[in-house]
Amino acid sequence: MKLDSKIPSGPLQQKWERYRLEMKLVNPANKRKFDVIVVGSGLAGASAAASLAELGYNVKCFCFHDSPRRAHSIAAQGGINAAKNYQNDGDSVYRLFYDTIKGGDFRAREANVYRLAQVSVNIIDQCVAQGVPFAREYGGLLANRSFGGAQVSRTFYARGQTGQQLLIGAYQALERQIGLGRCQMFPMTEMLDLVVVDGQAKGIVSRSLATGAVSLHAADAVVLATGGYGNVFYLSTNAKGCNVTATFRAYKRGAAFGNPCYTQIHPTCIPVSGDHQSKLTLMSESLRNDGRVWVPKKKGDQRRPHEISEGERDYYLERKYPSYGNLAPRDISSRAAKEVCDEGRGVGPGGLGVYLDFADAIKRLGEKAIQERYSNLFEMYERITGESAYETPMRIYPAVHYTMGGLWVDYNLMSTLPGLFVIGEANFSDHGANRLGASALMQGLADGYFILPSTIGNYFGSTKQSKVSANHAEFRKVEEDVKARLQKLLSIRGKRTVTSFHRELGKLVWDKCGMARNEKGLQEALRQIPALREEFWQNVNVLGEGGELNQSLEQAGRVADFMEFAELLCLDALTRAESCGGHFREEFQTEDGEALRNDEQFSFVSAWEYRGAGKPPVLHKEPLTYEEVKMAQRSYK
Ligand SMILES: Cc1cc2nc3c(=O)[nH]c(=O)nc-3n(C[C@H](O)[C@H](O)[C@H](O)COP(=O)(O)OP(=O)(O)OC[C@H]3O[C@@H](n4cnc5c(N)ncnc54)[C@H](O)[C@@H]3O)c2cc1C
Repeated sequence: MKLDSKIPSGPLQQKWERYRLEMKLVNPANKRKFDVIVVGSGLAGASAAASLAELGYNVKCFCFHDSPRRAHSIAAQGGINAAKNYQNDGDSVYRLFYDTIKGGDFRAREANVYRLAQVSVNIIDQCVAQGVPFAREYGGLLANRSFGGAQVSRTFYARGQTGQQLLIGAYQALERQIGLGRCQMFPMTEMLDLVVVDGQAKGIVSRSLATGAVSLHAADAVVLATGGYGNVFYLSTNAKGCNVTATFRAYKRGAAFGNPCYTQIHPTCIPVSGDHQSKLTLMSESLRNDGRVWVPKKKGDQRRPHEISEGERDYYLERKYPSYGNLAPRDISSRAAKEVCDEGRGVGPGGLGVYLDFADAIKRLGEKAIQERYSNLFEMYERITGESAYETPMRIYPAVHYTMGGLWVDYNLMSTLPGLFVIGEANFSDHGANRLGASALMQGLADGYFILPSTIGNYFGSTKQSKVSANHAEFRKVEEDVKARLQKLLSIRGKRTVTSFHRELGKLVWDKCGMARNEKGLQEALRQIPALREEFWQNVNVLGEGGELNQSLEQAGRVADFMEFAELLCLDALTRAESCGGHFREEFQTEDGEALRNDEQFSFVSAWEYRGAGKPPVLHKEPLTYEEVKMAQRSYK
């Protein structure tokens, strides 16, 4: 396997322009000859499928939900970044680019990030034209708020439902194409494998979740927009359905997996309250615009928050990071919360919580203003905890939220398998080792609306294509593999539920490779995961049959993939003997507990190649070279 990032030559600011000038075009009549499969209909997939169909390609779009509108993207609350500088507060394309590179702890590809910042401004125009109801100022201009890791206000939002409103926009564009007959939608259909013919991705094998029927779909290119894999930890803020199956099975067919160990732990989530939970709830980062984070100065202080005077409180983010304060980036804020809780100063049951306090903001702005900004988030918090955050501080704690790792892609968003494109959270993305808040929606829509529609045409225009039909022997072979695996899962009829395996795996990965990792713990995880996997294949109990709606079978397939993927994640974390962003190796930290990078040895993207069952994967390295920015120790002080 050879990694070639295919970054265009020339000055950073001109690379994308130059690429678009030099890329091969497909004329409108010829576009009709190309079939494209898009797997996923979240913000990345829906925007890509709609844009490709609008261009004239024949598109088939798949999702496992009953409607594209149920994709996990709908959960995004806080907002989407763009370098519009509407606030006149010093923002620019360059500043967004720099903040993103620095926020990612200098582990992202410079050229991609610059392009992302450039394209960000187009996204807002596109969405406004679709009718997305972004919040507006009194005079009618679009409003902005701040998110972590930035000193400007560049986040566009639709109250606490930004993902939902953006998805409605993308979904309408997709529905229009479905209505015009240019896109065929396959809801409740799960991709279970990728078909590669003569080294090129040529289709997928899928299973209808309604009937259990397995079917084959051929195309000239396959686009994976299948989201992130945070649920490998079992408990996360992700929708329950999020999984690694599509990308992991593509990995097993030859696509390299990039940076699997880079996981984002979000500092602002409702704390775990017991063993019964199957999911954690995010309280949007936007709340940190007005909420102040604190814990008691005294260890084990059990008093209620209002009984603790100002002088007895530690506003630790404001104390440690005076220039960014409560808007310090996620990785840094999460670790700071863990640190104070580890010291015994955490609040709430079990001491795993910190306060997010709105009292000052309510005093300054009035309760009505806070309601206007966050009422749906406050309502959600009250429904879950029974407490009103207008009256008492919220209790929050970090939780798994986003995965920066994903399939490795080049500048064209193409994986190491020709014809297989990967967009949105599913690729290893532009966020390096830590994603800044409100940048995932920006990346997913940049990929789907603007970048892929250009780069896929360049692929068709510059690569010799041979039409392959689903009758090709390779399709039949992959179909047999898929059916055999389903049958195997159904035939075990063991004693343990799929969920109990998932829960145990998640706890193991969280304990050994969560917010903090070390060599000993990772070695242990690498011993324990294969043993748990072995037990899974001997003792799992998958209920029901294959030829029907069977959620136990769906879940078993996804957990089986997590069982293998978890090992890759821990191996990547073990190999990266440095701390950077969300990857915090306890052995590598500065005197004041910040991540200590090792640029000399680890300034690269890890891209793992699958070599077959039972064989260790091979690590390939894409060197990261910075022409424009100077690598520095990240500081938010
Ligand atoms: C609670 C929460 C709040 C967030 N808030 C923000 C925010 O305010 N701003 C921000 O920038 N980011 C936010 N994020 C992150 C952001 O929402 C996600 O990164 C982004 O929406 C991912 O979009 P996507 O299109 O890549 O994937 P998804 O929206 O996850 O969509 C994946 C799609 O793939 C389909 N799929 C997956 N596997 C298969 C398969 N095997 N076969 C068929 N279909 C498949 C699914 O059905 C779905 O349609 C938030 C995340 C969470 C968890």
